[in-house]
Amino acid sequence: MRAALIDKPFSVKFTHVSEPMITKANEVKIQTFVTGICGSEVHAFHGTHPFRIPPLVSGHEVAGVIIEVGSDVKDYKVGDRVTVEPHYGCGLCNLCKEGRYNICSQKLVLGAKDWSGSFGEFFVVPEQTVIKLPDNLSFEKGVLIEPIAVGMHAVRQSGLSVGQTVAIIGTGPIGLGVMLSAKMAGASKIIMTDALDFNLEVAQKMGCKYTINALKEDVFRKVLEITDGKGVDVTYIAFGNESTFADALKITKRGGAISEIAIVGVPVKIPISTLQLNEIRLYGSNMYTRIDFEIVRDAIANGDFDVEPLISKIMPIEEVEKAMKIVDKKLENVIKVLLKF
Ligand SMILES: [Zn+2]
Ligand SMILES: [Zn+2]
Repeated sequence: MRAALIDKPFSVKFTHVSEPMITKANEVKIQTFVTGICGSEVHAFHGTHPFRIPPLVSGHEVAGVIIEVGSDVKDYKVGDRVTVEPHYGCGLCNLCKEGRYNICSQKLVLGAKDWSGSFGEFFVVPEQTVIKLPDNLSFEKGVLIEPIAVGMHAVRQSGLSVGQTVAIIGTGPIGLGVMLSAKMAGASKIIMTDALDFNLEVAQKMGCKYTINALKEDVFRKVLEITDGKGVDVTYIAFGNESTFADALKITKRGGAISEIAIVGVPVKIPISTLQLNEIRLYGSNMYTRIDFEIVRDAIANGDFDVEPLISKIMPIEEVEKAMKIVDKKLENVIKVLLKF
């Protein structure tokens, strides 16, 4: 089959690899129509991702069509337009039994070592990960359900309630997913920060009223201005480096909460006494579960979430090398680059 293969660090090629086959009765084989390049694919490309280790066919943001089903598959049939929730747990541990399979220690993730992903023309998944796309939802928009669902999970988990104020550090696809989800949850004011004006403009286009360029403006002062001197109820960290947590603690109001979503590869110092003195709750948020996917799918399909501005570029899979360079080196202003088979 045709595929984009990350054969070794800093090398991705369009090539042909052997096609994955259905081996279990509960499996579904899907033909990839469109797939997205996610930050974790860039980590895989760098050879720094903990479990997406080259050589591999990565890819986990996807929309396509079912071309084969195993003998036990009941809810799906050949020809169904679908996306997938690209992970599943062991099904046996207590977390899995509680529906928290996203944090199962035995969880498998699509596009990692032993599970060939959507950078290939075909891939095989267990039935429980499949999610149908309504007819009016394009494949391109269907691909975006996954990154937006990350934000939805964080918002649902943080217990954000109607009328509360929000800050989001990082205005990439995950941060923008938090923004859409926080709006749906009834946030009164949403403030987004980033170092890139292009990203902040996209946020504005998608309905975020308050944006701050962290390189050019004083984030702390501006957040206080916007929130009448209080700070925000919840800060979401959708981009993380050494100083992000200290920044988040500064702009979060007393008794507020911080949600950590970003993959941060370095140890971070936190002024922990502020957390204690101000009774700040700290949440970690890891991917999503099915309910997040379903809410986001329906919101995109019925027009509540306009995700069109997220799609910066659609390139043929043959140009994966060029596409990866654009995303990795930020050669162009892009939020999300999609690859088409
Ligand atoms: Zn992703
Ligand atoms: Zn489990």
